[in-house]
Amino acid sequence: MITDNIKQVWEKVDKKCAGIRRNPKEIKLIAVSKNFSTEDIEAAFDGGIKDFGENKAQELISKYEVLGNKVTWHFIGHLQKNKVKFAVRSAEYIHSVDSVSLANEINKRAEQLNKIQKILLQVKTSEEETKSGIEREDDVFSIAESCNELKNIELIGLMTIAPFTDNEEEIRKSFRYLRKLKDEFNLRGFKNIKELSMGMTSDYEIAIEEGATMLRIGTAIFGHRDYSKN
Ligand SMILES: *Cc1c(COP(=O)(O)O)cnc(C)c1O
Repeated sequence: MITDNIKQVWEKVDKKCAGIRRNPKEIKLIAVSKNFSTEDIEAAFDGGIKDFGENKAQELISKYEVLGNKVTWHFIGHLQKNKVKFAVRSAEYIHSVDSVSLANEINKRAEQLNKIQKILLQVKTSEEETKSGIEREDDVFSIAESCNELKNIELIGLMTIAPFTDNEEEIRKSFRYLRKLKDEFNLRGFKNIKELSMGMTSDYEIAIEEGATMLRIGTAIFGHRDYSKN
């Protein structure tokens, strides 16, 4: 089942890319495996997925202890400072950096492990109260400036979660804003900010149209999450 789901997602990605003349090779498909088992992850791996996203540090580290670096781990959830060491130990990418103090902590832990931690800044691109991320545009730039001073961090992109709505234009607006911010960064000389982590099960085709380079897809690959299990 998981293998078929992956095929279907890739088919949609390829079709969408063909329609807008984008190269699907520039898009990384991250399977969001939160609440799913390491067996499910293995199944997705056998189906051709190399990248997996987790949103809880504890869950990430316990899966990391089983699978190690056989797969590439992405941390995509809210990160508390006391959990940073787990994320840095296991994740190649941390998508959810939203403050200088968090960046400093990541830098410190990365230095201890002799690692350059790849990070993205999470930006709040909608009015929705529940969404996290950096709210003010000025802050996005100033936090990025601070990250550039930290030698064990490499800022490679921006991440956002679109509003939870059926209104396609609202969703598109949110992705388009992130894209515009990236372009502005590039104009300001931040040449390493190349990645746009945006698009989930319900909106990834819109995200592709708006320039996404990293899709974070859970449900369409693994099925519905059963939160009663934990
Ligand atoms: C759960 C989650 C996803 C995947 O959501 P689906 O709708 O299941 O595809 C993507 N991004 C983040 C930050 C998540 O927490």
